[in-house]
Parts: sequence; C-alpha cells; structure tokens
Amino acid sequence: MSEQFRVAIVGGGTGGLCLAQALHRAGVEVAVYERSELRTERLQGYRVHINRRGSQALHECLPPGLWQAFVATVGAPSNSFGFVTEQLEELLHVEDELTSGADSDPADAHHSVSRITLHQVLSTGLDGVLHDGKEFERYDRAADGTITLHFADGTTATAEVLVAADGAKSRVRAQYLPHAERVDTGIRTVVGKYPLTEASKRHLPERLLTGPNNVMPPAGCGMFVAPHEVDAGPTADGIGGNDETAAVDDVLFDNTGSYIMWGYASYGTRFAGSDAELSEMDGAALRDLVGALIEAWHPAVRRLVAESPVQTVSMLPIRTSVPVPQWETSTITLLGDAIHSMTPFRGIGANTALRDAQLLSRNLIAAARGDQDLLAGIHDYETQMIDYGFTAVKASLRTAEQTVSGNRLARSAFKVALRVFSAIPPLKRKVFGDLGND
Ligand SMILES: Cc1cc2nc3c(=O)[nH]c(=O)nc-3n(C[C@H](O)[C@H](O)[C@H](O)COP(=O)(O)OP(=O)(O)OC[C@H]3O[C@@H](n4cnc5c(N)ncnc54)[C@H](O)[C@@H]3O)c2cc1C
Repeated sequence: MSEQFRVAIVGGGTGGLCLAQALHRAGVEVAVYERSELRTERLQGYRVHINRRGSQALHECLPPGLWQAFVATVGAPSNSFGFVTEQLEELLHVEDELTSGADSDPADAHHSVSRITLHQVLSTGLDGVLHDGKEFERYDRAADGTITLHFADGTTATAEVLVAADGAKSRVRAQYLPHAERVDTGIRTVVGKYPLTEASKRHLPERLLTGPNNVMPPAGCGMFVAPHEVDAGPTADGIGGNDETAAVDDVLFDNTGSYIMWGYASYGTRFAGSDAELSEMDGAALRDLVGALIEAWHPAVRRLVAESPVQTVSMLPIRTSVPVPQWETSTITLLGDAIHSMTPFRGIGANTALRDAQLLSRNLIAAARGDQDLLAGIHDYETQMIDYGFTAVKASLRTAEQTVSGNRLARSAFKVALRVFSAIPPLKRKVFGDLGND
C-alpha cells in the first residue's frame, strides 16, 4: 500500500535541490525552505568539480531537459589531472581516459561546472516547491508524527519527513544530533580566480590550461589550480548566463567568463601571526601575502596569483565534521554537509551530497509507492550514507593534512612514489584509475 507523506527539505543548496528535483519529478509532495533570497553566497563564484558519482546522481534525479541543460553549460572537458612541483616539473599526469567512463557518456564523466550555473539548473522548475527567504530556526514533533518547522519570519510549515540539507552549520543537526561536532583543522586556504582570455592564456604553460593540477612544493603548503573554460553561451532559458548575482559583483559572480581557480593552503600560522589578523585581510592583502609566500615558485604560478582581481580573492578556514555512530532512525534525516561536512581537498563534498540525494530519493519514492516501509527506507539510507560519507570525511582530512604537512621527508617520498607510478603505466592505472571518484 502506498504511504502518504510530505517531505520538508531545509536548505536549497546542492544536495537539497537535487533531492527536491527527484521527489517532485516522481510526484512525492515536497517543499524546500531556503534561507537566502539570492544566489550570492560568496563561494558560489567558483567552479565545482563533478565526478562520475555526481554526474550519475544528477542524471538520475533531474528531468531529462534539465540534465541536458547541465551538460550544455559545463566547462570544457579537461584531459588530465596532474601533480607538479612548485617549478611546474611534472611528477605525475593522470589522463582523463583513466578516470572517466570508457564511452565518454556525460552521465558517467567528470565535469567542471560554475557553482552559480549548477544552482540555476537545480532550482529550475521548482515553482511552488522552493521557498526562498525562509530561515529555519527549529522544529517540534507532535505525538502523531507531524513535524512543525519554525522560521525566522515567524511562519511555520508542517511535514511528515524532515530532511536537513542546510549545510555545514546545520541548525537541524544542532537540534537533532547535538553531539555531532564540526571542528577547525587549523588549515587556511586563500582562493582566487585568474581570468582566462586569449591574451592571458599566452602567458601560461599548456599544463595549467588542460586540466587541474596539484602544485607540491618541498613542504608546509600546497596549491590546487583548476581551469574552468566556458565555451558555449547560456541556454535559451538563461542557464549558464549571468543572473542577479552579477549585479552584486560582476567579477566574482560573472558566470560567462573562463578562468583558472587557484587555492593556496597552509596552516594559518604560516600566513599570519594570528587568526584574527588573517580574517581581517581584504582581497588585496591576501593576494600580496600569498604572492610573498610563493616568491620562489614558477613565474606562471606567481602570475596566476598576482593578476587575479582582488574581488575574487578570499580566505577560507578549513573545518571538518567528526564522524558519529549511527543514531536511531526517525522521520528526520540529514544529507550533505549538514551531516558529513568535509575539507574541500578531494573535491568530493558536493558529489557526496548528490549521492545522498540520489539514494535518499530512491528510498523515499519507494516508500511513497508502497514498495518499502518509510522508516526502513530512511534507515537503509542512513546506514549507507554514514559509511561512505564519513569515509569521505576521513579521506578529505587526510589529503588536507598531507597537503600542508611540514614533513619534508614524507613529501619527498610521496614525490618519488608519484614518479614511479608515472613511469609504470599499469601501476598508475591501478592506483589512480578511480581518482576523484570516491
Ligand atoms: C573552496 C571549496 C571548493 C569546493 N569544491 C568542491 C568540488 O570541486 N567538488 C565537490 O564535490 N565539492 C566541493 N566543495 C564542497 C561543496 O561545496 C559542499 O560539500 C556542498 O556544497 C555541500 O552541499 P550541501 O547541499 O550539503 O550544502 P550547501 O550547498 O552548502 O547548501 C546548504 C543550503 O542551506 C541553506 N541554509 C543554511 N542554513 C539555513 C537555515 N537555517 N534555513 C534555511 N536554509 C539554510 C544555505 O543558504 C544553502 O543554500 C568545495 C567546497 C569549498 C569550500
């Protein structure tokens, strides 16, 4: 027998909107409550790497027209992922054929997408489902199972299932799982965008233009550098074009230009005497600071930093969730950063949120159709999500710590290992064949 329930999703970000698309498409009653009115969250100015899992989830959850819009508006495909020294000497070069599906089906491939464009895709067609300007404050549960959500504007909404998709600082998690912590790693990243034009490209070696690279100096820090080249214009309904965010900052939020995103990471103490000092720096001061820290690096990398517009340069403190054991299942559940926020060092947080949305939507749809008990479906989702989600958290933290490690011996040994993998293709395939797909 089919079960009637309404799903309330708190947070209209990557995971929440993907879940809403899948449920709405399947006819399950769903509402998304999103705090912000505009797509102006600072980070939304940068690109996101979507891996094969993320692509598979989007392909399954989105209606076919929106999936096509996603494919039409992603950045130009890269053809490799590299590890290089700070002098841009190659350590290892992993060709895309090694990490993408053999038949290059877009639903089984890696993509670089503007965060704004992804949000445009995910929020299209959700009229009457997506409610902006609704800041969630708390929930109550009645004896009959009805959940009431309370918003900052004094309004309320009710549902039978509540999904926390409200990101790393989740208020739903704070109320539901108060013991689930998020901690500071001490690592700080300064990120920026170097505009790519025919003229600016001429100053850069091919290696920086053909795919993402991890730049590995002798110790203590690291830099991630990734091109995002937009070669097609927006779709007829404006996806991939500039929207209201461009009016806020037409450099950071320009959705139509190509650029290289870079992120320099280190422990905060390497940057400045105190955290407060670092937090107070504006884009120009941060850019100068990173410029001074990479003074001896290859001129092309220094140029990326020196010529990035100051509006695009900002500092991110790196935090991570602390894995918690599975809790007793109820009609409240969580997805994405709301439960397993992780460092951005493996580029898998959004992909894991999309994977959550795919799995949870399958189970909720099955329950709505009477093919599965609702609580059993949520329990199955949580069992799997806790396993792969916290595995990703641990892997991301390990990569973050390795990136900023001051251990020169360990870094040298890692570089030797990369050169060995590079020289022995079958070994490279074995070790890196699934790169970026965790
Ligand atoms: C620099 C950087 C680069 C990254 N690059 C990648 C990458 O390349 N690939 C990748 O997979 N991941 C990447 N990530 C991680 C990725 O951005 C996140 O993991 C992902 O956005 C999580 O999605 P989510 O839906 O869980 O949360 P979010 O996308 O953060 O969405 C949460 C939503 O909830 C809303 N919200 C918050 N509080 C409330 C409230 N009280 N009431 C209502 N709404 C609320 C927010 O406004 C937001 O819209 C990166 C992260 C950083 C910092």
